[in-house]
Amino acid sequence: MMRCERCGHGDRRPERRARLAERANQTAVVVEVPVEVCMSCGQVWLSMDVAKRLDALFDRLLDSGAESSQIHWENSRAT
Ligand SMILES: [Zn+2]
Repeated sequence: MMRCERCGHGDRRPERRARLAERANQTAVVVEVPVEVCMSCGQVWLSMDVAKRLDALFDRLLDSGAESSQIHWENSRAT
């Protein structure tokens, strides 16, 4: 188990969290994103792969022009 680099004493545990992106008057939400969370200070980490795909996903959701959109992480794998 990796130690938290922020507070120095928390254990990092895999969890699922929603992530939100905003642009002008648009919001995009991706739910159930796999992350690691520090049990002590609450710091959240994303792996490089997850962060990259999340960025692409947010771009796609926001580029669609919808005022608000929400997608489940598992449902985004096909695209
Ligand atoms: Zn911590």
